Amino acid sequence: MARIPATLNLDKIIEVAKALASLDLRRSNAFDPRFYPPKDADIEATYNYFLAMVAIDHRTNIGDWQFIRRVGDEVFTGSDLLWRLGMEMFSRDSSFFSPASLRRLDPTVVKDWLVGDYGPVWDYGVRAYLLRDVGSYVLRNYGTTIRLFHVSNVEELIDRLSGMAAYEDPPVKKKAYLLIKFLVLRGLLKAKPQEIKLPIDNHLTRIAYRLGIVRLEDWVLELMRRDVHFSRELDVELRLTVRDAWDAVIRIGKLDPIALDDFLWRFGRTVCIRDKPQCDKCPLKDVCNAYARGGSFINEHNHYLTYYY
Ligand code: SF4
Repeated sequence: MARIPATLNLDKIIEVAKALASLDLRRSNAFDPRFYPPKDADIEATYNYFLAMVAIDHRTNIGDWQFIRRVGDEVFTGSDLLWRLGMEMFSRDSSFFSPASLRRLDPTVVKDWLVGDYGPVWDYGVRAYLLRDVGSYVLRNYGTTIRLFHVSNVEELIDRLSGMAAYEDPPVKKKAYLLIKFLVLRGLLKAKPQEIKLPIDNHLTRIAYRLGIVRLEDWVLELMRRDVHFSRELDVELRLTVRDAWDAVIRIGKLDPIALDDFLWRFGRTVCIRDKPQCDKCPLKDVCNAYARGGSFINEHNHYLTYYY
């Protein structure tokens, strides 16, 4: 019989839910002009942009290389840099993100577009493949992106998105839920709160493990200690458990899932970071298992051979 790798820790979920409910969680600004098209941008161009950008929004660093670059007066890293470069392209030529253009996209164009301090993003060829796949799928099945998004509910949209490689990952659907979040924030999609699930990326996984809302079995911890690359099956089981735990936090704390995701994503990049978490600045330290143990900080499990997260 298959071993269960992790379980929910209900007592800790209640504690964390209460702590988060006492914070002023706010939705981020999906109209920030550094990363996203303006309010009055053409609607189809806006759909095209989000569909394409979320499709390539996965890990940007590999090993110790950080995807970083100064643009104007600001230094951007990781996903922020990806979206900043996306907006630079959108401002120059929004038709770049149209399905017809994506379908013919040359990997060398992506190589020249997504450049950090050390050169092109490490997997520019993979991102070119994902974008070409988006363009081909939309043209073949719907003709335009607007028709793709013409759905009666979230489930139908997820089903349609799953025909694209970037959005297929059964059953976690990280990129699909990230896209849904952006569309809701932009007023381009209506979704009931119970239809929205958190896009479980590495930040949300690491924070869940450290807080202790998910209890990992000893054999999983041992694999993490040995830095083993986790199989796809084990990765999925763990992410679904993490997602269930955050779902429970949302329900118990009566939290807005979008505001919580925005908070956790920023929190994972600035406070509960890999290797050296800034616990002194952490608003959750009083309910954190890792902090209570006196600094035994685990990171997320290793599963980097993927374009899903
Ligand atoms: S106390 Fe430290 S380890 Fe715990 S959630 Fe906060 S930053 Fe992360």
